[in-house]
Amino acid sequence: MDKILNYINGEFIESLDKSWINNVDPSIGKVYSLIPDSEDKDIEQAVQSAELAFDNWSNSTIDYRSKILNNIAKLILTNMEDLARAESIDNGKPLRLAKKIDIPRAAKNMAFFASAIKHDSSESHQMNNIAINYTLRKPIGVVGCISPWNLPLYLFTWKIAPALAAGNTVIAKPSEVTPMTAYLFSKICKEAGLPDGVLNIVHGYGGKVGAAITKHPKIKAISFTGGTATGKEIAKVAAPLFKKMSLELGGKNPNIVFADCDFEKAVSTSVLSSFSNQGQICLCGSRIYIERKIYDKFKEAFLKKVKKLVVQDPLSESTQIGALVSEDHMNKVLQHIKVAKEEGGVILHGGERILLSGRCENGFFVSPTVIEGLPHNCRTNQEEIFGPVVTLSPFDKEDEVIEYANGTQYGLSSTVWTKDLAKANKMAQELKAGIVWINCWLVRDLRTPFGGVKNSGVGREGGYYALQFFTEPTNVCISLN
Ligand code: NAD
Repeated sequence: MDKILNYINGEFIESLDKSWINNVDPSIGKVYSLIPDSEDKDIEQAVQSAELAFDNWSNSTIDYRSKILNNIAKLILTNMEDLARAESIDNGKPLRLAKKIDIPRAAKNMAFFASAIKHDSSESHQMNNIAINYTLRKPIGVVGCISPWNLPLYLFTWKIAPALAAGNTVIAKPSEVTPMTAYLFSKICKEAGLPDGVLNIVHGYGGKVGAAITKHPKIKAISFTGGTATGKEIAKVAAPLFKKMSLELGGKNPNIVFADCDFEKAVSTSVLSSFSNQGQICLCGSRIYIERKIYDKFKEAFLKKVKKLVVQDPLSESTQIGALVSEDHMNKVLQHIKVAKEEGGVILHGGERILLSGRCENGFFVSPTVIEGLPHNCRTNQEEIFGPVVTLSPFDKEDEVIEYANGTQYGLSSTVWTKDLAKANKMAQELKAGIVWINCWLVRDLRTPFGGVKNSGVGREGGYYALQFFTEPTNVCISLN
């Protein structure tokens, strides 16, 4: 059985206790590799190595750090086929999605911050004839990056790249549910010439390794992406230690379709925003609000497309919907569907596990599920399901749909479909969300602020925002007298 190893001080090693966690391929429901079951003492070792590496790395030139990050980006692309296949097997996502989105984006994250750090600058504030101030931006030191399972290498590198570019050394923990590409990435970093100890990847459970990172006094900042409940736990521990925190958390995003939209584009993009990656993207629009005038027309056109979605072996090129990430998660999603029925929801399509034949007969597949007839304040429309489940609801007025859209604890993203720009701008103003897409979805410019409001998070990632997070400003004031 393949063994994934920790990457500490440039070495590939087992956990100190030499204990292991099973890693399951969700498309076949079988264990296919083992993950180190690390804990506090493994993190201690990683922190020591990151501390030792810090001086050289933080004092190295920007050109040098940029070159190493670019080397990593190039090697990700060279290893595209292997990484995409590994991501698909580990996560259950369609191989073609991993090839098109996940792995290219991981390379882009590294290349983007390799370039961003070269173009970064800091402010100066002049006090005429009295003094001049300038801001020094210094790397924080040893920082922690904790990422989830839905976009494994994509989100892992989204944190690591700016942390390294800014001159920090890093302790990173991928999700224990999808650790494989982080392991392959550690080998790439070694090959790319990343100095030992600059990045340390420690595998294991969130409650052990993640918690050990969060509470370690020498790890001065935590960049976390995951569920809102976990974010709350992390904040409880890290806040009294005065750590910097960036928390990217859950969502329950509204997708608002006005009657004056580009109908074809709204329907086809809504199918993607509902079911891409099996609905396991924090930005998926899981509540679709449709202006009543076009409700029936939209429902019919949407269902027609959903019925054609191909759910099958993620490794097959024609697959559009793969397996959910784990048996536990599949059962959680099925339980949500049961609740939706109990709440009076009408299942228009899907609603059950799909049992495939052949290689994937024990895989964790759920049919894309469309539900209508639920009020906006029921559990199904309030709780994050994070699976291939959407609700359809009609609305009559702008103010009414704004109230529905804003009426959850979350505020990550929203999508609005209308040709009326004044209306679109009003919606963007009123919607309580970190990101509003008008007539599109998941169009990403890596320079833009990325993050949520309310219980969807604290702080912003992306370009300048990430480089700010991973540095501490020092104001230097020079007297002019
Ligand atoms: P999760 O919160 O269970 O786990 C995320 C990471 O945190 C994992 O690496 C896990 O091992 C670790 N972890 C768990 N308990 C911990 C603890 N006590 N201390 C420290 N670390 C701990 O989330 P998940 O199930 O992996 O991912 C799904 C969630 O992530 C969804 O809620 C989704 O919306 C959210 N998400 C948000 C964004 C965003 O950008 N806002 C992006 C992707 C996913």
